[in-house]
Amino acid sequence: MRVLVVGAGVMGRGIAGLCALSGHETLVFDADPDAQRHVRPSIEASWARALERGKIGAEAIEAGRRRLRIVERLRDGADVDFVLEAVPEALDLKRLVFGELDDHCPDRTILASNTSSLSITRIGRATGRRDRVVGIHFFNPVAAMPLVEVVRGSETSSETVERALELVASLGKEAVRVNDSPGFATSRLGLALGLEAMRMVEEGVARPEDIDKAMELGYGHRMGPLKTSDLVGLDVRLAIAETLAAELSGERFAPPAILKKLVAEGKIGKKSGEGFYRWDGDEARPSASSASNRTRA
Ligand code: NAD
Repeated sequence: MRVLVVGAGVMGRGIAGLCALSGHETLVFDADPDAQRHVRPSIEASWARALERGKIGAEAIEAGRRRLRIVERLRDGADVDFVLEAVPEALDLKRLVFGELDDHCPDRTILASNTSSLSITRIGRATGRRDRVVGIHFFNPVAAMPLVEVVRGSETSSETVERALELVASLGKEAVRVNDSPGFATSRLGLALGLEAMRMVEEGVARPEDIDKAMELGYGHRMGPLKTSDLVGLDVRLAIAETLAAELSGERFAPPAILKKLVAEGKIGKKSGEGFYRWDGDEARPSASSASNRTRA
Protein backbone atom coordinates (compact mmCIF):
# COMPACT_ATOMS: atom_id res chain seq x y z
CA MET A 1 0.00 0.00 0.00
CA ARG A 2 0.99 3.60 -0.39
CA VAL A 3 0.50 5.82 2.66
CA LEU A 4 1.05 9.45 3.54
CA VAL A 5 1.79 10.47 7.14
CA VAL A 6 0.90 14.10 7.86
CA GLY A 7 2.57 15.65 10.91
CA ALA A 8 5.95 14.20 11.82
CA GLY A 9 6.19 14.77 15.57
CA VAL A 10 6.42 12.08 18.23
CA MET A 11 3.61 10.00 16.75
CA GLY A 12 3.97 10.73 13.03
CA ARG A 13 7.59 9.60 13.01
CA GLY A 14 6.73 6.41 14.85
CA ILE A 15 3.85 5.69 12.48
CA ALA A 16 5.93 6.45 9.38
CA GLY A 17 8.81 4.26 10.59
CA LEU A 18 6.42 1.38 11.26
CA CYS A 19 4.65 1.71 7.88
CA ALA A 20 7.95 1.75 5.96
CA LEU A 21 9.27 -1.29 7.85
CA SER A 22 5.99 -3.13 7.27
CA GLY A 23 6.34 -2.97 3.49
CA HIS A 24 4.28 0.14 2.67
CA GLU A 25 5.58 2.88 0.45
CA THR A 26 5.58 5.72 2.98
CA LEU A 27 5.49 9.44 2.28
CA VAL A 28 5.78 11.96 5.12
CA PHE A 29 4.76 15.61 5.21
CA ASP A 30 5.26 18.11 8.04
CA ALA A 31 4.38 21.80 7.76
CA ASP A 32 7.50 22.80 9.70
CA PRO A 33 10.64 22.73 7.49
CA ASP A 34 12.77 22.01 10.54
CA ALA A 35 10.66 18.98 11.40
CA GLN A 36 10.88 17.90 7.74
CA ARG A 37 14.67 17.86 7.96
CA HIS A 38 14.64 15.82 11.17
CA VAL A 39 12.19 13.11 10.11
CA ARG A 40 14.55 10.78 8.29
CA PRO A 41 17.50 11.00 10.75
CA SER A 42 15.13 10.53 13.67
CA ILE A 43 13.40 7.48 12.15
CA GLU A 44 16.74 5.98 11.12
CA ALA A 45 18.14 6.53 14.63
CA SER A 46 15.18 4.64 16.11
CA TRP A 47 15.73 1.81 13.62
CA ALA A 48 19.42 1.71 14.59
CA ARG A 49 18.44 1.35 18.26
CA ALA A 50 16.04 -1.46 17.34
CA LEU A 51 18.85 -3.16 15.37
CA GLU A 52 21.17 -2.95 18.40
CA ARG A 53 18.49 -4.58 20.54
CA GLY A 54 18.06 -7.34 17.95
CA LYS A 55 14.44 -6.34 17.19
CA ILE A 56 14.97 -5.85 13.44
CA GLY A 57 17.58 -6.87 10.88
CA ALA A 58 19.84 -4.76 8.68
CA GLU A 59 18.02 -5.80 5.47
CA ALA A 60 14.68 -4.74 6.87
CA ILE A 61 16.17 -1.35 7.67
CA GLU A 62 17.64 -1.01 4.20
CA ALA A 63 14.25 -1.86 2.63
CA GLY A 64 12.49 0.55 5.02
CA ARG A 65 14.90 3.30 4.06
CA ARG A 66 14.06 2.83 0.38
CA ARG A 67 10.32 2.94 1.06
CA LEU A 68 10.47 6.19 3.04
CA ARG A 69 10.17 9.56 1.29
CA ILE A 70 9.78 13.03 2.79
CA VAL A 71 7.68 15.47 0.74
CA GLU A 72 7.90 19.24 0.98
CA ARG A 73 4.28 19.96 0.06
CA LEU A 74 1.14 18.13 1.06
CA ARG A 75 -0.05 17.81 -2.50
CA ASP A 76 3.18 16.04 -3.52
CA GLY A 77 2.19 13.17 -1.25
CA ALA A 78 -1.53 13.08 -2.01
CA ASP A 79 -1.70 10.14 -4.44
CA VAL A 80 -1.97 7.43 -1.79
CA ASP A 81 -4.34 4.71 -0.52
CA PHE A 82 -4.28 5.92 3.08
CA VAL A 83 -3.46 9.16 4.86
CA LEU A 84 -2.49 8.84 8.52
CA GLU A 85 -2.79 12.29 10.08
CA ALA A 86 -0.84 13.09 13.28
CA VAL A 87 -0.86 16.91 13.58
CA PRO A 88 -1.44 18.48 17.04
CA GLU A 89 -4.65 17.72 18.93
CA ALA A 90 -6.84 20.69 17.87
CA LEU A 91 -10.13 20.25 16.05
CA ASP A 92 -9.85 23.37 13.87
CA LEU A 93 -6.36 22.40 12.73
CA LYS A 94 -7.39 18.83 11.95
CA ARG A 95 -10.45 20.03 10.02
CA LEU A 96 -8.24 22.39 8.02
CA VAL A 97 -5.78 19.61 7.19
CA PHE A 98 -8.59 17.19 6.25
CA GLY A 99 -10.20 19.82 3.97
CA GLU A 100 -6.87 20.27 2.24
CA LEU A 101 -6.33 16.51 1.94
CA ASP A 102 -9.82 16.12 0.48
CA ASP A 103 -8.94 18.67 -2.22
CA HIS A 104 -5.69 16.95 -3.19
CA CYS A 105 -6.24 13.21 -2.66
CA PRO A 106 -7.90 10.96 -5.25
CA ASP A 107 -11.30 9.41 -4.47
CA ARG A 108 -9.83 6.08 -3.38
CA THR A 109 -7.84 7.63 -0.53
CA ILE A 110 -9.05 6.88 2.99
CA LEU A 111 -8.29 9.70 5.43
CA ALA A 112 -7.44 8.50 8.95
CA SER A 113 -6.77 10.58 12.04
CA ASN A 114 -4.54 9.59 14.95
CA THR A 115 -6.55 11.86 17.25
CA SER A 116 -6.69 10.70 20.87
CA SER A 117 -10.00 12.35 21.69
CA LEU A 118 -11.54 14.50 18.96
CA SER A 119 -14.69 13.59 17.08
CA ILE A 120 -14.00 11.61 13.91
CA THR A 121 -17.48 12.61 12.70
CA ARG A 122 -16.67 16.32 13.03
CA ILE A 123 -13.27 15.92 11.38
CA GLY A 124 -14.95 13.97 8.55
CA ARG A 125 -17.47 16.75 7.99
CA ALA A 126 -14.64 19.01 6.82
CA THR A 127 -14.43 16.76 3.75
CA GLY A 128 -16.62 15.66 0.86
CA ARG A 129 -15.86 11.99 1.68
CA ARG A 130 -17.33 11.47 5.14
CA ASP A 131 -17.73 7.73 4.51
CA ARG A 132 -13.96 7.42 3.97
CA VAL A 133 -12.82 9.14 7.17
CA VAL A 134 -11.89 6.96 10.16
CA GLY A 135 -9.88 7.06 13.38
CA ILE A 136 -6.71 4.98 13.52
CA HIS A 137 -5.34 5.72 16.97
CA PHE A 138 -1.82 4.46 17.69
CA PHE A 139 -0.09 4.44 21.06
CA ASN A 140 3.23 5.84 22.15
CA PRO A 141 5.87 4.54 21.49
CA VAL A 142 4.34 3.30 18.23
CA ALA A 143 6.93 0.59 17.55
CA ALA A 144 6.44 -1.02 20.96
CA MET A 145 2.73 -0.68 21.71
CA PRO A 146 0.63 -3.50 20.27
CA LEU A 147 -2.76 -1.73 20.36
CA VAL A 148 -4.52 0.45 17.78
CA GLU A 149 -8.05 1.81 18.25
CA VAL A 150 -10.11 1.91 15.06
CA VAL A 151 -12.77 4.55 15.52
CA ARG A 152 -15.93 4.59 13.45
CA GLY A 153 -17.50 8.02 12.95
CA SER A 154 -21.26 8.21 12.50
CA GLU A 155 -20.80 8.52 8.73
CA THR A 156 -17.84 6.13 8.29
CA SER A 157 -18.72 3.20 5.98
CA SER A 158 -18.26 -0.46 6.93
CA GLU A 159 -15.87 -0.83 4.01
CA THR A 160 -13.65 1.95 5.37
CA VAL A 161 -13.58 0.27 8.79
CA GLU A 162 -12.62 -3.05 7.14
CA ARG A 163 -9.83 -1.38 5.17
CA ALA A 164 -8.55 0.30 8.35
CA LEU A 165 -8.54 -3.06 10.16
CA GLU A 166 -6.57 -4.58 7.26
CA LEU A 167 -4.01 -1.78 7.43
CA VAL A 168 -3.65 -2.21 11.19
CA ALA A 169 -3.15 -5.99 10.77
CA SER A 170 -0.51 -5.37 8.07
CA LEU A 171 1.41 -3.30 10.64
CA GLY A 172 1.42 -6.22 13.09
CA LYS A 173 -0.87 -4.45 15.58
CA GLU A 174 -4.02 -5.59 17.40
CA ALA A 175 -7.15 -3.51 16.80
CA VAL A 176 -10.08 -2.72 19.02
CA ARG A 177 -13.19 -1.20 17.40
CA VAL A 178 -14.79 1.77 19.07
CA ASN A 179 -17.65 4.03 18.04
CA ASP A 180 -16.97 7.75 17.92
CA SER A 181 -17.30 9.12 21.45
CA PRO A 182 -15.10 11.66 23.30
CA GLY A 183 -11.80 10.04 24.26
CA PHE A 184 -12.88 6.72 22.67
CA ALA A 185 -12.10 3.81 25.01
CA THR A 186 -8.45 4.30 25.85
CA SER A 187 -7.96 8.06 26.29
CA ARG A 188 -11.09 8.32 28.41
CA LEU A 189 -10.06 5.58 30.83
CA GLY A 190 -6.35 6.43 30.77
CA LEU A 191 -7.04 10.09 31.42
CA ALA A 192 -9.43 9.39 34.29
CA LEU A 193 -6.56 7.61 36.06
CA GLY A 194 -3.92 10.18 35.02
CA LEU A 195 -5.91 13.21 36.23
CA GLU A 196 -6.73 11.58 39.56
CA ALA A 197 -3.01 10.79 40.04
CA MET A 198 -2.19 14.47 39.34
CA ARG A 199 -4.77 15.62 41.90
CA MET A 200 -3.16 13.24 44.42
CA VAL A 201 0.25 14.89 43.78
CA GLU A 202 -1.38 18.31 44.29
CA GLU A 203 -2.93 17.17 47.54
CA GLY A 204 0.38 15.78 48.81
CA VAL A 205 -1.01 12.24 49.06
CA ALA A 206 2.21 10.72 47.71
CA ARG A 207 5.17 11.46 45.46
CA PRO A 208 4.75 10.88 41.70
CA GLU A 209 7.17 7.97 41.81
CA ASP A 210 5.24 6.31 44.65
CA ILE A 211 1.88 6.78 42.93
CA ASP A 212 3.29 5.18 39.79
CA LYS A 213 4.91 2.35 41.73
CA ALA A 214 1.60 1.68 43.46
CA MET A 215 -0.13 1.07 40.12
CA GLU A 216 2.80 -0.81 38.61
CA LEU A 217 3.39 -3.23 41.48
CA GLY A 218 -0.05 -3.22 43.05
CA TYR A 219 -2.20 -3.40 39.92
CA GLY A 220 0.21 -4.82 37.35
CA HIS A 221 0.16 -1.72 35.14
CA ARG A 222 3.20 -1.75 32.88
CA MET A 223 3.75 1.97 33.57
CA GLY A 224 2.19 4.25 36.22
CA PRO A 225 -0.22 7.05 35.24
CA LEU A 226 2.19 9.97 35.78
CA LYS A 227 5.09 8.45 33.85
CA THR A 228 2.59 7.61 31.13
CA SER A 229 1.42 11.24 31.10
CA ASP A 230 5.01 12.46 30.77
CA LEU A 231 5.53 10.07 27.88
CA VAL A 232 2.34 11.09 26.11
CA GLY A 233 3.20 14.79 26.62
CA LEU A 234 1.48 16.94 29.25
CA ASP A 235 0.41 19.38 26.52
CA VAL A 236 -1.37 16.52 24.74
CA ARG A 237 -2.95 15.32 28.01
CA LEU A 238 -4.13 18.88 28.80
CA ALA A 239 -5.71 19.26 25.36
CA ILE A 240 -7.54 15.94 25.75
CA ALA A 241 -8.70 16.81 29.28
CA GLU A 242 -10.13 20.11 28.01
CA THR A 243 -11.99 18.32 25.21
CA LEU A 244 -13.41 15.66 27.52
CA ALA A 245 -14.32 18.21 30.21
CA ALA A 246 -16.30 20.17 27.61
CA GLU A 247 -17.94 17.17 25.96
CA LEU A 248 -18.62 14.76 28.80
CA SER A 249 -19.66 17.53 31.22
CA GLY A 250 -19.03 17.50 34.94
CA GLU A 251 -15.83 17.84 36.93
CA ARG A 252 -14.40 14.41 36.14
CA PHE A 253 -12.10 15.62 33.38
CA ALA A 254 -11.42 19.22 34.53
CA PRO A 255 -7.62 19.64 34.19
CA PRO A 256 -5.89 19.97 37.60
CA ALA A 257 -3.94 23.18 38.30
CA ILE A 258 -0.63 21.30 38.44
CA LEU A 259 -1.12 20.09 34.86
CA LYS A 260 -1.88 23.61 33.60
CA LYS A 261 1.09 25.00 35.53
CA LEU A 262 3.60 22.47 34.18
CA VAL A 263 2.40 23.05 30.61
CA ALA A 264 2.57 26.86 31.05
CA GLU A 265 6.18 26.45 32.25
CA GLY A 266 7.05 24.36 29.18
CA LYS A 267 7.55 21.25 31.34
CA ILE A 268 5.58 18.98 29.09
CA GLY A 269 7.20 15.65 29.90
CA LYS A 270 9.76 13.49 28.17
CA LYS A 271 9.90 15.55 24.98
CA SER A 272 10.95 18.71 26.89
CA GLY A 273 13.13 16.82 29.41
CA GLU A 274 10.87 17.48 32.41
CA GLY A 275 7.30 16.95 33.59
CA PHE A 276 6.31 14.96 36.65
CA TYR A 277 9.81 13.46 36.24
CA ARG A 278 13.17 14.66 34.93
CA TRP A 279 14.01 12.74 31.78
CA ASP A 280 17.44 11.63 30.68
CA GLY A 281 16.83 9.80 27.41
CA ASP A 282 14.41 7.01 28.29
CA GLU A 283 15.18 7.25 31.98
CA ALA A 284 12.83 9.03 34.41
CA ARG A 285 14.23 10.54 37.63
CA PRO A 286 12.24 12.25 40.40
CA SER A 287 11.70 15.92 39.59
CA ALA A 288 12.26 18.67 42.15
CA SER A 289 9.64 20.91 40.55
CA SER A 290 6.71 18.54 40.84
CA ALA A 291 7.82 17.95 44.44
CA SER A 292 7.69 21.70 45.13
CA ASN A 293 4.10 21.74 43.89
CA ARG A 294 3.01 19.47 46.69
CA THR A 295 0.79 21.02 49.26
CA ARG A 296 -1.00 19.23 52.02
CA ALA A 297 -4.74 19.19 51.54
P1 NAD B 1 3.68 16.62 18.13
O1 NAD B 1 3.43 17.99 18.61
O2 NAD B 1 4.86 15.85 18.61
O3 NAD B 1 3.76 16.63 16.51
C1 NAD B 1 2.86 17.30 15.67
C2 NAD B 1 3.57 17.61 14.36
O4 NAD B 1 2.61 18.14 13.43
C3 NAD B 1 4.69 18.66 14.48
O5 NAD B 1 5.89 18.16 13.91
C4 NAD B 1 4.15 19.86 13.69
O6 NAD B 1 5.17 20.59 13.01
C5 NAD B 1 3.23 19.18 12.68
N1 NAD B 1 2.19 20.05 12.13
C6 NAD B 1 1.52 21.07 12.73
N2 NAD B 1 0.63 21.59 11.86
C7 NAD B 1 0.71 20.89 10.71
C8 NAD B 1 0.05 20.96 9.46
N3 NAD B 1 -0.90 21.85 9.22
N4 NAD B 1 0.43 20.09 8.47
C9 NAD B 1 1.41 19.17 8.70
N5 NAD B 1 2.08 19.07 9.87
C10 NAD B 1 1.73 19.92 10.87
O7 NAD B 1 2.31 15.81 18.42
P2 NAD B 1 2.12 14.24 18.74
O8 NAD B 1 2.36 13.99 20.17
O9 NAD B 1 2.86 13.45 17.72
O10 NAD B 1 0.53 14.10 18.53
C11 NAD B 1 -0.03 14.10 17.24
C12 NAD B 1 -1.43 13.51 17.32
O11 NAD B 1 -1.35 12.17 17.83
C13 NAD B 1 -2.39 14.26 18.24
O12 NAD B 1 -3.68 14.21 17.68
C14 NAD B 1 -2.33 13.46 19.53
O13 NAD B 1 -3.49 13.58 20.32
C15 NAD B 1 -2.20 12.06 18.97
N6 NAD B 1 -1.59 11.08 19.88
C16 NAD B 1 -0.52 11.42 20.63
C17 NAD B 1 0.04 10.47 21.47
C18 NAD B 1 1.26 10.80 22.31
O14 NAD B 1 1.60 10.00 23.17
N7 NAD B 1 1.94 11.90 22.07
C19 NAD B 1 -0.49 9.17 21.55
C20 NAD B 1 -1.57 8.84 20.73
C21 NAD B 1 -2.13 9.81 19.90
